Amino acid sequence: MDFAAVDVIATKRDGRALPTAQINWMIAAYTRGEVAEEQMSALLMAIFLVGMNYDEVAAWTAAMIASGIRMDLSTVGRPTVDKHSTGGVGDKISLPLAPLVAACGAAVPQLSGRGLGHTGGTLDKMESIHGWNPRLSPEQMQAQLSAIGAVICAASDDLAPADRKLYALRDVTATVESIPMISASIMSKKIAEGTGALVLDVKVGSGAFMRDATAAAKLARTMVTLGVAAGVRTSALLTDMSTPLGVAVGNAIEVAESVQVLAGGGPPDVIELTLALATEMVSLAGLDVDPAQVLASGKAMDTWRAMVAAQGGDPDAPLPVPKHTHQVLAASGGVVSRVDARAVGVAAWRLGAGRSRKEDPVQAAAGVLCLAKPGATVAAGSPLFELHTDTPERMDAALAELAGAVDIAPPGRKVSRRPIVMDTIRG
Ligand code: URA
Repeated sequence: MDFAAVDVIATKRDGRALPTAQINWMIAAYTRGEVAEEQMSALLMAIFLVGMNYDEVAAWTAAMIASGIRMDLSTVGRPTVDKHSTGGVGDKISLPLAPLVAACGAAVPQLSGRGLGHTGGTLDKMESIHGWNPRLSPEQMQAQLSAIGAVICAASDDLAPADRKLYALRDVTATVESIPMISASIMSKKIAEGTGALVLDVKVGSGAFMRDATAAAKLARTMVTLGVAAGVRTSALLTDMSTPLGVAVGNAIEVAESVQVLAGGGPPDVIELTLALATEMVSLAGLDVDPAQVLASGKAMDTWRAMVAAQGGDPDAPLPVPKHTHQVLAASGGVVSRVDARAVGVAAWRLGAGRSRKEDPVQAAAGVLCLAKPGATVAAGSPLFELHTDTPERMDAALAELAGAVDIAPPGRKVSRRPIVMDTIRG
């Protein structure tokens, strides 16, 4: 049945729920190029302002799934379980997590994206490994999942193509931060990917889409409900994104930090979150294994090396190093009480680690090292940040972002920080 786009827009503008038939038509017609960009923009803004009820979100998600292929991973020969993060600063967790969960006996089909704005993209980080290829056919992906258990690769163009088009439009119409649309966007891709189980890492704080825990919990519950209704065993962890994860924020430096974790080292917050997500994933996959023991055994490192090599990457090749570095020093001594995630993310982006338009290249070696995390004691003149870039004219803009990013409390002050895992929502 055909509708007039203007009537669909008016329905939502006037505060009414969109019937499923109108949602189906609008998304299919827009994907075919038969609804004008300005009309879809108007509908997105009406949805942003008015919202959608659960039935509308479920119909929107189903229509985006129906716009493309639905993968079948039933022949992989292991239980499939994936993780999706809503995006954070220094969030490199997919890199150690996928091989760790694979080494526990599951198959992890990590279809990943590139970064836009201040949160980095997993593919951008992995591409700093010499030779690594993000593009696998569905057949190559399934063969690697069966043989090694972990794949990090780009989603094929025919997986939820409606979301690809809509996400680009949301990005330029200031309509990204909408719980119904984020839920439908993430879950359409994950359900179409064919994973049997899914753990969502819903970030809360200055560096995340959701700045407060109430909004993040609502987003998490909506996504968990959508997943369970589609037959995907789904849980969500609400995790802290008020301060960057780990020390490294960038591309190559995040790969290096991930390899440290796989080698048994790395920053405590990165290890804690990797193990928390792995424990939830392994449990949803029905496996009785302790990820901490598997990490300590070195098997996750073996799987990482096999996963990188299977996609043409050289796990032993040196990672790119920056042409220019600059340290930001503490003006006074004391205890670091705040390092703002968003400011660090934007600084890394300004240094060249991220992109402004989706066709822009990123610098593999650009980024920020956070040398003093909340709780650290610093002396006046000791380094807080190290900035990396290949283009020194970018330094000033990054330094301006970092100007108010750190608070230092008087020496001896006890600084408490939010736990990394703030809540867990299970389906
Ligand atoms: N990530 C997605 O894939 N979609 C959104 O809408 C937001 C984050």
